[in-house]
Amino acid sequence: MRVAVRCRLPGTFRQGNVAGLPALVGPHKHSRRRSLRLPRVVIRLRIPKVGFRARDWLQRRPVSLVTPWEGNVRMAVLKPWFRVGSGGRVFMEPTAAALRRFAPGALAGPVPALRELARMVVDGEAALAPLEFGVLAFTGPSQEPLTAADRELFWRAFQAPIFEQCRGPHGELLAYECEAHEGLHLVRESAIARMRGWVLVDSSCPCGTSTPRALRAQARFAAG
Ligand SMILES: [Zn+2]
Repeated sequence: MRVAVRCRLPGTFRQGNVAGLPALVGPHKHSRRRSLRLPRVVIRLRIPKVGFRARDWLQRRPVSLVTPWEGNVRMAVLKPWFRVGSGGRVFMEPTAAALRRFAPGALAGPVPALRELARMVVDGEAALAPLEFGVLAFTGPSQEPLTAADRELFWRAFQAPIFEQCRGPHGELLAYECEAHEGLHLVRESAIARMRGWVLVDSSCPCGTSTPRALRAQARFAAG
């Protein structure tokens, strides 16, 4: 700990050991009487910077997990972004054994994590019962896209429908796939600006929801 000593005399400032105090005590040059003025001692504790930024923390607060299913779903979430309801669990470090014990009815996670788990199930390295509900596959501006090969692999491994959800860098939902599996519904139209590789379409979705929808740019191009 370092101690800073400041006395009332103008221009006098010393940083060091308090043993030097008596030398600072003396008459003030403007005072009429020769009197002693005790120095004001300021002790400063040096506190290390902890690097905590409230804004970062607020941006990383848990977000709601939006699912296409009603009621309590035994959901295993492979990403620590989310606030899950009763019945669900966030796996900070998912292992095949822990997932098997949990026996999820649905899975949610980024594509690479799902891909790794699916490969283990298909190769017989991990055992997981077929999912009752389905898979939420997270993609996003800074994440890997969900390919047709991924969908096939996930279907073989989990034997349940796959729903893509495009999410921002802090897990916030930008767009989601519905039961019709015809592109993604945008949470708000402006979200398309953050979805690289997607284009806005103006046709209505077979599911009947009229919110703005996006298709993969290649898919849109192939469809003419
Ligand atoms: Zn739809």
